[in-house]
Amino acid sequence: MKRFTLPRDIYYGKGSMDVLKTLKGRKATIVVGGGSMKRFGFLDKAMNYLKEANIEISLIENVEPDPSVETVMRGAAAMRDFQPDWIVAIGGGSPIDAAKAMWVFYEYPETSFETLITPFSFPELRTKAKFVAISSTSGTATEVTAFSVITDYAKGIKYPLADFNITPDIAIVDPDLADTMPEKLVAHTGMDALTHAIEAYVSTLNSPFTDPLALKAIKMVFDNLLLSYKGNMEAREQMHYAQCLAGMAFSNALLGIVHSLAHKTGAAFSTGHIPHGCANAMYLPYVIRFNAKEAEAMKRYAEIARSIGMKADDDAELVEMLCKKIELYNSAMSIPESLKLFGVKEDEFKEKVNNIATLAVGDACTGSNPRKVTPELMAKLLDCIYYGKKINF
Ligand code: FE
Repeated sequence: MKRFTLPRDIYYGKGSMDVLKTLKGRKATIVVGGGSMKRFGFLDKAMNYLKEANIEISLIENVEPDPSVETVMRGAAAMRDFQPDWIVAIGGGSPIDAAKAMWVFYEYPETSFETLITPFSFPELRTKAKFVAISSTSGTATEVTAFSVITDYAKGIKYPLADFNITPDIAIVDPDLADTMPEKLVAHTGMDALTHAIEAYVSTLNSPFTDPLALKAIKMVFDNLLLSYKGNMEAREQMHYAQCLAGMAFSNALLGIVHSLAHKTGAAFSTGHIPHGCANAMYLPYVIRFNAKEAEAMKRYAEIARSIGMKADDDAELVEMLCKKIELYNSAMSIPESLKLFGVKEDEFKEKVNNIATLAVGDACTGSNPRKVTPELMAKLLDCIYYGKKINF
């Protein structure tokens, strides 16, 4: 048996946040991040709408980027005191991811991250509350996905949580919130969304339900990302929808080794954090050329190329055209083409590459990659990504 799960309702369009006025319930806990939603007035707006619905409100503020186990536990305890029947998470990926995990520990205080880490094994949620997600960035699509990532800083590990129980009940995709994104965030989150759609399309778990969402998202990203980057707000709106479509695809079809590599290199080097979307953008053309050595994957990448209007005599040529287009977008948005150019030191890279390769093979996203990969192959791939070398294996 296969399954395809999305939120029950997706409200979208400028001003769609006002649907909060129509929620039926007694109490809502709002979860927000560091302050941009407050500064730009969206938090007040949400609170006013909920008050109009006669809903009593509690607030969990200051969820940090890459939210911690402690933040989740603190939030869950506050929810147990307040007993909300709605959880409303507003902001980028971090507050929404944190709120999803708080939700689990609110309803099941006795569970543990060690238990939850087994994919699709969660206890039944919605015994106490339902969940609204309102996203402010156009990339992670956590407002429609079954995923959340929580960091245990003491143990130095990330818990990738995956279960359709944490797919929100309501997603609000209001482009007004994405207007506030700075240029660099537009570039990185946009390329993250493109990576989601491409990886979902070639994933071993691709399906007739996810394919149209992925292809449409890819087309919309190519049509709108550079305009959005330059400040065109109509294009920004389309990107907000495109990333959501990509999210619906990858929540059900899962991802591949671009994400495995981004996860394991993000915090690996002393020269600084590599933002998730930036890492994906850099690695994507290398991984496409690597995966395309597998016949079925080559066929799927060629289908993507054709779907955005590319024409060529054979599939290999189409795949190359697709890679070139991605590289063009990267360079137009000042995303470097190798880890070396990003600033990672050669000595440190050489010292860590084998370990990173092994960790990346073990990442949750590797299982659905269309080409089987060993630590040795992953290390060779990383070597090409570091030096900007051609993939010939
Ligand atoms: Fe991503």
